[in-house]
Amino acid sequence: MASVARRLRREEDKTIGLVPTMGALHDGHLSLVREARRMCDVVVVSVFVNPAQFGPGEDFNRYPRDLTGDTTKLADYNVDYIFAPPAEEIYPKGFSTYVTVEGLSEPMEGVARPGHFRGVATVLTVLFNTVRPDFAFFGQKDAQQSLVVRRLVRDLAFDIEVVVLPTVREQSGLALSSRNTYLSEEDHKAAAVLYKALSQAREVYMEGERNPKRLAEAARAQVASEPRASLEYVSVVDAETMEKFDRIPEDRSVLIALAARVGGTRLIDNIVIQPARQKARTTSES
Ligand code: AMP
Repeated sequence: MASVARRLRREEDKTIGLVPTMGALHDGHLSLVREARRMCDVVVVSVFVNPAQFGPGEDFNRYPRDLTGDTTKLADYNVDYIFAPPAEEIYPKGFSTYVTVEGLSEPMEGVARPGHFRGVATVLTVLFNTVRPDFAFFGQKDAQQSLVVRRLVRDLAFDIEVVVLPTVREQSGLALSSRNTYLSEEDHKAAAVLYKALSQAREVYMEGERNPKRLAEAARAQVASEPRASLEYVSVVDAETMEKFDRIPEDRSVLIALAARVGGTRLIDNIVIQPARQKARTTSES
């Protein structure tokens, strides 16, 4: 890949789009690929189950891997390169440099999965430096990850535009995820409760409630109604900074994010509620 990337860099008039994935591709991933294809001259999809972002006891070993199936799916999208490196290419012997995005990596998934975002930020730094994309595509499904990536790109001055695309869902509302393959048929049905819980919280917001605790309670009650599900956390925070509020201001977007186990499988999901009223922006802010 390094030599391919070097050649690509010489073709300065071409824009390169990178879609980083861990494979076992589904329509959520493919929505990113489609947009990359639309926006960029050259599309690179990376498929790498990144050991550094899994904690001890997590599902690194059993994470679904299907490069043949992934390659078949990507053939429909006219992808230019599938970059599926062996671990030693990303992490050569003696690898000892890690990237930590402080602050944004700490709440929510940062609490539940210590070291996770350090692994994500590190692998993305290596991928960005290898592929040198102009655009990188991510899903809103991993809301905190998207914020971490934007901060990483800004702080380390990567010349990359981060594009975040909406979560693709099943008809039941369940967000597509490679981990859904772990769910039994019954658990799969039950997992729709995550999106129901988020929708319930949104409804409470729409009714005028601005106390974040009340929104969280609504989501919690919905998850509690499904015996196969157990909630790990639900957070109601500023969608851009992930700060908590005592009361949701009318001019801020709200991120409602949760993690729950359904029959032993850990799933995450989120929604963003756009502000009911946008504060008029002054020219200096725009
Ligand atoms: P993963 O393979 O799980 O690391 O995901 C690779 C990329 O696909 C990440 O940017 C995810 O946020 C995105 N993604 C995963 N699931 C979905 C989904 N249901 N809708 C949109 N994007 C998704």
